[in-house]
Amino acid sequence: MKILALYLLFSISLFFTFTSSACETDTLLRFEYQHPQMGTMFRWVFYAPSKTVADAANTALKAKIDTLNAVMSDYFPESELNRLCQTSGTGKKVKVSNDLWRVLKASQQYSKKTQGAFDITIGTLTRLWRRARSLKEMPDSTHIKTAHGLVNYRNIKMHRFSHRVRLQKQGMKLDLGGIGQGFAADECLYLLKKQYGITAAMIDAGGDIALGDAPLGQTGWRIELPYADSTEVKLLSHCGVTVSGAKYRYVELDGHRYSHIIDPHSGWPLTKHVKTMTIAPTCTQADAWATALCVMNVDAALRRSIEAENPGLKFWIFRDKDASSVKY
Ligand code: AMP
Ligand code: MG
Repeated sequence: MKILALYLLFSISLFFTFTSSACETDTLLRFEYQHPQMGTMFRWVFYAPSKTVADAANTALKAKIDTLNAVMSDYFPESELNRLCQTSGTGKKVKVSNDLWRVLKASQQYSKKTQGAFDITIGTLTRLWRRARSLKEMPDSTHIKTAHGLVNYRNIKMHRFSHRVRLQKQGMKLDLGGIGQGFAADECLYLLKKQYGITAAMIDAGGDIALGDAPLGQTGWRIELPYADSTEVKLLSHCGVTVSGAKYRYVELDGHRYSHIIDPHSGWPLTKHVKTMTIAPTCTQADAWATALCVMNVDAALRRSIEAENPGLKFWIFRDKDASSVKY
């Protein structure tokens, strides 16, 4: 959850009112709503011809987010994702929904692009460390080792024509926490456009922000980007913006701060902390890269190759100043 990481300034007087609201611009009206889901608060702002249309669109967006949660959640035991995980190692090829197929496909794509720094098969490890965070207790090292043995995105087999998925290793679990909110934000933008013809829209999935057309009469959405020591307001549209890092979710044990982000190669949570910020053509892309870049050791040469291979992706990596107590 990246609450408070990115701040949206929609106008001088309005800085996220917490109720639905509307103001007139030409023939379209501005609407703003919120909906709690996926452990965060979703907020959307868009321009629509009437309150009737806006309320209908809001209802559809809430239903979409609820559906996506029922598909992607790893907290909800009956989610489609968890039901798929229950078949791991059985040899079953499970037919999955279109939503799950596409988010798994995207995850696999980012695993390849990041040489495995982004890997949703870290699920068994994230469950171990979630428990460690709530108990403030180091997980058992043999449990960590066993869970690490289940991490490898190549063990997700996706059958293109039948949309069936097979998880090869018994006990492997998937975690879409590094991409799900960005994916959901993109889906909401798409729904507004396809079903309601609404294109001037902003979806904030708890800090993963998807931007469509600019607000009416403006050249972009006013987004305040948090750099290491300063902020900058930029006018942005048609992109995703996100931040990642261990600022809010970590556990301190034996003098080390263990992040909620895990290095799939070592099987350990990050203890060298950075904050990343990404702007990309889609929010799915921005979300996955922001998580992966926390893990990757990006030098100048790697930066050049990432930028060359991913047109439109811009990223910043900051040393987490609050991590100064952590020994490197
Ligand atoms: P984000 O806030 O988008 O950076 O996502 C962080 C979440 O992604 C964590 O809480 C985990 O659920 C998940 N995650 C942790 N490490 C990884 C990783 N290396 N690859 C993919 N997802 C991860
Ligand atoms: Mg992410």
